[in-house]
Amino acid sequence: MPTFVVLEHFIELGIAQPIIDALSAQGYTTPTPIQAQAIPAALAHNDILGTAQTGTGKTAAFSIPIIQNLMSSTRDRRTIKALILTPTRELALQIDESIAAYSSNVKISHAVIFGGVSQNPQVDAIKRGVEIMTATPGRLLDLMQQGFISLKDIEYFVLDEADQMLDMGFVHDIKKIIAKLPQKRQSLFFSATMPENIVALSKTILKSDYKSITIRPEQATADKVEQSLYFVSKKDK
Ligand code: AMP
Repeated sequence: MPTFVVLEHFIELGIAQPIIDALSAQGYTTPTPIQAQAIPAALAHNDILGTAQTGTGKTAAFSIPIIQNLMSSTRDRRTIKALILTPTRELALQIDESIAAYSSNVKISHAVIFGGVSQNPQVDAIKRGVEIMTATPGRLLDLMQQGFISLKDIEYFVLDEADQMLDMGFVHDIKKIIAKLPQKRQSLFFSATMPENIVALSKTILKSDYKSITIRPEQATADKVEQSLYFVSKKDK
């Protein structure tokens, strides 16, 4: 019989104390299944193909290893070293907020860029120096074409919600962005579903020895997290 080690505490995943303290401040006590599997693999610099939906805790699963690997390296703080691509403005904002929370005890700069709003504050942030950038594909390409963003220093690349990206017609944008990434990098690829076209796309991004992690929807939340649903009227929300 194989034995399975269940990692119940963040410290057992190899996460550094300043990040653990930030997770405690968020009220996180137990890693979710995707965190328990992906964090040690990503900290060890593996590429990852993750089948997991929003709500599984995948944002922490991909951003904690990036924050930790960056904080333990000597680096130029002004260049973009991690790029997280996600399909919508809402997801981009959520991811950047999570990164702010998880890195609250660490000196790391991060920013979010998306379309439909003035580019000026985003360009100002880039000029001040951004290390972890969360972006939607259209605005990212636009700012790259205007010369405000270079991807030449990227060490960590996350493609989030790949199936949604393709459904929204972003395939050409994604290919253009991937073509500008350095070959030497760590890539983390997440999709809720893995039809053939998504697997094919992942093969163009990941190194051949990537680790595959699948979280079934019923496994999505940590066993110890109690969930409840309340119906409230709009005014009481
Ligand atoms: P995500 O799938 O990354 O969008 O996360 C879904 C929700 O779960 C967010 O509200 C997170 O703040 C929360 N969350 C993520 N990981 C944990 C954890 N280990 N314990 C408690 N809540 C978590």
